[in-house]
Amino acid sequence: MSKPSTIAIDGFAASGKSTVAALLAEQLGYLYFDTGVMYRAVTWAVLDRGVDPADVAGVSQLAEQISITVTADGPADGRQATVRVDGRDVTWDIRQPQVDALVSRLSSYPRVRTALTNQQRRIAAAGSMVMAGRDIGTVVLPDADLKVFLLASPEERARRRYRQSLEQNRPADFDQILAAIIQRDALDRDNPVSPTHPAADAIIIDTDNLTIAQVVEQLKHLVETSCNEHA
Ligand code: C5P
Repeated sequence: MSKPSTIAIDGFAASGKSTVAALLAEQLGYLYFDTGVMYRAVTWAVLDRGVDPADVAGVSQLAEQISITVTADGPADGRQATVRVDGRDVTWDIRQPQVDALVSRLSSYPRVRTALTNQQRRIAAAGSMVMAGRDIGTVVLPDADLKVFLLASPEERARRRYRQSLEQNRPADFDQILAAIIQRDALDRDNPVSPTHPAADAIIIDTDNLTIAQVVEQLKHLVETSCNEHA
């Protein structure tokens, strides 16, 4: 019986994919990688270095030059992993609203996508892996053994983000969060290089009325089913 060794989990902003993908990986004993942090890291670097976001060549060059590392070390402060850009810990900086507001625009630059996609494919080659993002099943790992696309309404996703911010003692405004999610959805859906959409062979899960634990259970069931198919 062979288990799927690459699992692609895609979905829009705040669809819960990072949380469930990390839990699934932990329970299966797989590696986990959230590709969104790489696009966020590039965006942070653009803001930090004062590169004009409209300068496509300048942004692309920066994306090709910086070193982004994601490791399991770092303080136990609620982080899933430690993200570094050229050695500097930017784990929390990449979650700032300024990054949220710009990341989808920079993610539409073809050279940015190529640079990060190549790195993501190398990372996925490291072993059994759950990889989360927007285009994992469609572009990064089109041969993934199992592809899942998580859906949730913008309102439900905004509620989750809002609760998360309050739990982490960060100030939050529900209407602003909802507006930012709707705007990012539109940009990600219309991304000219990798528009966010489910792969033709992806299994779609609507998570609106499901808890995180229930989504993880469904995913584990899918892994088992696909084991039997591959047997
Ligand atoms: O998943 P997260 O919300 O952290 O991703 C941040 C942004 O990075 C997304 O809104 C999207 O613009 C971009 N992204 C992408 N492709 C991926 C992962 C993220 O374009 N595979």
